[in-house]
Amino acid sequence: MSDKKTERIKCLIIGSGPAGYTAAIYAARADMNPIMYTGMEPGGQLTTTTEVDNFPGYPDGIDGPEMMVQLQKQAERFGTDVRIGMITEVDFSDEIGGIHKVCVDNKTWIEAESVIISTGATAKYLGLPSEQRLRGGGVSACAVCDGFFYKNQDVAIVGGGDTAAEEATYLANICTNVTMLVRRDEMRASKAMQKRVQKAKNIDMLYNTEIDEVLGEQVVEGIRMFNNKTDEKENIEVTGLFIAIGHKPNTDVFEGQVEMDETGYIFTDAKSTKTNKPGVFASGDVQDKTYRQAVTAAGTGCMASLDAERYLAEVESEEEEEKVSV
Ligand code: NDP
Repeated sequence: MSDKKTERIKCLIIGSGPAGYTAAIYAARADMNPIMYTGMEPGGQLTTTTEVDNFPGYPDGIDGPEMMVQLQKQAERFGTDVRIGMITEVDFSDEIGGIHKVCVDNKTWIEAESVIISTGATAKYLGLPSEQRLRGGGVSACAVCDGFFYKNQDVAIVGGGDTAAEEATYLANICTNVTMLVRRDEMRASKAMQKRVQKAKNIDMLYNTEIDEVLGEQVVEGIRMFNNKTDEKENIEVTGLFIAIGHKPNTDVFEGQVEMDETGYIFTDAKSTKTNKPGVFASGDVQDKTYRQAVTAAGTGCMASLDAERYLAEVESEEEEEKVSV
């Protein structure tokens, strides 16, 4: 570790989605003088969405990128120092009251008394050029966010896990028909979730089926599917295509530094945002593979800031006590 430039701060927030900005608003108002590093996608996943209709307080909905600009302004209003930069290396302390070292863009080192990780997760896509071209034009990776726009229409969903099963049943309540494409001859989802899918009368299950191409120029008009056993191809008309093949939490840089599950989601203590490292907290999708909503991310961002504030107060009072007893 070369330390050409080192900055010492109270609270570092990594990531700029709803979790990070909410943590920043709370931390700034608590005089923790937070510094936020935004990462490569300032604003996070919501900047790739169009309309956000399910965040409380916006009766007419709000454009995803616009919402993130507003959150940034709110965090800055209370003094958050928002900086563009990628965290490229971390060295978290094991000690209570220890200093966490974090490297930005391979050159600047920050020493932080507390760190809030809110780097989010990235939805996986199939990787087809037609799918990428039509993202935002009918291709979505979040049925709960975008399903409503396809009310009373025919849609398709790809995936056979719990997310796909949950999203398919969600869509079945809104849409006329849901075609579910599973690449193997069985679903990965739990039996309970599979039963929910089977019970829905308007979900057509297609096993051993994958997508060849998403059809449409400006918006999705259909999909070309193929059976991976027989190679048989078929086109169907749909206006929405939901990809539910999993997410990847953005935690590569924290590997070996905080405890994670086998897929990279950071473990937090029940009902808190504490990681296994004292003074390091995690909020938002980086520690939540179940809910993954902007509002739940914001809620855990608030929790992370309160947890960090309490932690710093405890460390400070312990240091005071030590001084008195010396
Ligand atoms: P999973 O990894 O569990 O499932 C991904 C699904 O997508 C699998 O069916 C997989 O197929 C399929 N898939 C992967 N890549 C492709 C591809 N390129 N083309 C077509 N299909 C593909 O992800 P989930 O997001 O469903 O779940 C993640 C975790 O979150 C799990 O542990 C799940 O249990 C949990 N979860 C729990 C919920 C709950 O408790 N309510 C709700 C949602 C998620 P294959 O099986 O062949 O690999």
